[in-house]
Amino acid sequence: MAATTALVELARRPFNALVDLLMPPACMVCKAEVATPGSLCAECWSALPAIEGARCQQCSIPLPIQWQAESHCLSCIAEPPAFDTAHAPFLYEGPSRQLVLGLKNGKEAWAPHMAAAMLRAAPETPPDAIVVPVPLHRWRLMERGYNQSLLLAREIARQTGATLAIDSLIRVKSTPRTRGMNRRQRERNVSGAFRASGVPTGARILLVDDVITTGATASACARVLKRAGAATVSLLTYARVAATDAKPYPPLSRSQDEHGQG
Ligand SMILES: [Zn+2]
Ligand SMILES: [Zn+2]
Repeated sequence: MAATTALVELARRPFNALVDLLMPPACMVCKAEVATPGSLCAECWSALPAIEGARCQQCSIPLPIQWQAESHCLSCIAEPPAFDTAHAPFLYEGPSRQLVLGLKNGKEAWAPHMAAAMLRAAPETPPDAIVVPVPLHRWRLMERGYNQSLLLAREIARQTGATLAIDSLIRVKSTPRTRGMNRRQRERNVSGAFRASGVPTGARILLVDDVITTGATASACARVLKRAGAATVSLLTYARVAATDAKPYPPLSRSQDEHGQG
């Protein structure tokens, strides 16, 4: 069934590309007319939920109050993920969610725009960085026809001149979809799912995925990359799922709390 769906999708793709070519350029989200293909109209652009203000220095989760000092969320203090830093330009809401879902479902042409936004949110990529996409298991790859994280990683490597390594990390275990799972369930789900090889000792890895939710997948990837020789692993995603219960560490004093945002 899945294989049939993949074949139908493959057959449809050239037709979709032809339609895209003949139609005037449309906003990637709302289909309003725009000047350049693969862009957003002004309205959708301004509706993108940019991540601003206080966030965890390690996993990038927005913290619910303005916290000026360098802080980590309680989750990263209790059990630090294996990646060193994480960056994402947008929350996984509204137009950014639509772009992520589009990229997964046939809109491969959106990758350059999304990769450019990701790079604007990240510190400068060192020229010796190695760009590694979070891999899909081969069954999922057959079902979808491509890995959306590889599309983003390829663009990031192209736009920065960094090296793309697509075989350094493979997914050896097919895991159930993680929607609705909490961090602990996700950690169990991806345990033993990845294998890394051919990583140069001391390598600085830029790990690329479309979305970070709890960070369990990225952490499992970073762990095997480091075991294989990587010195650092920085995660870069297009979107970040915000948790409503993220708390800063150290906690606010009483007087700071009174000036917090409730
Ligand atoms: Zn629009
Ligand atoms: Zn954190």
